[in-house]
Amino acid sequence: MDRISYCSSKIRTVPDFPKPGIAFKDITPMIADARALQIVLDEVTELFIDDRVEQIVGIEARGFIFGGALAARLGAGFIPARKPGKLPAEADAVSYDTEYSTASLEIHKGSFAKGARVLVVDDVLATGGTAKAAADLVELGGARVVGFAFIIELGFLGGRAKLPPAKVESVLRY
Ligand code: AMP
Repeated sequence: MDRISYCSSKIRTVPDFPKPGIAFKDITPMIADARALQIVLDEVTELFIDDRVEQIVGIEARGFIFGGALAARLGAGFIPARKPGKLPAEADAVSYDTEYSTASLEIHKGSFAKGARVLVVDDVLATGGTAKAAADLVELGGARVVGFAFIIELGFLGGRAKLPPAKVESVLRY
């Protein structure tokens, strides 16, 4: 089995979660497996190693797992994009629609270095609303998005088209 098929074999698809009609891509078996976790981190690191990423925005909650590990590998800072009411200090907020809900994301004011090269990281790209909101927060913070990295892309939902112009990469596509 090749490296990517190995990772893909560790993704669990849960039908009708969290709502009827949603096929939820559960990454927990994949991150529990040391080899699969290393492979996906190696893949994303290689894709962005030459992009001089200075700060990574990880999207709550699964984007924190990959974002933190990638920040360590790429020598970048890490900025959490959190759900409302979780950040203790003053924050910018952006609202958006997901595949199954309406939500908002927040980032602490003053998180970004001026003009910093930022990579936005999440586990799944579905309709693109979440990653677009994170990108809007980067712009509000005075930095710029040089790329988006996802472990899984649900290509049939067309999320890519919603993202601002930047490099968009995913390890596993459905
Ligand atoms: P979207 O804004 O539609 O691109 O949704 C992306 C966000 O919702 C990510 O943070 C994902 O973790 C989560 N998400 C959306 N759809 C799924 C799915 N089918 N399986 C797992 N996570 C999903």
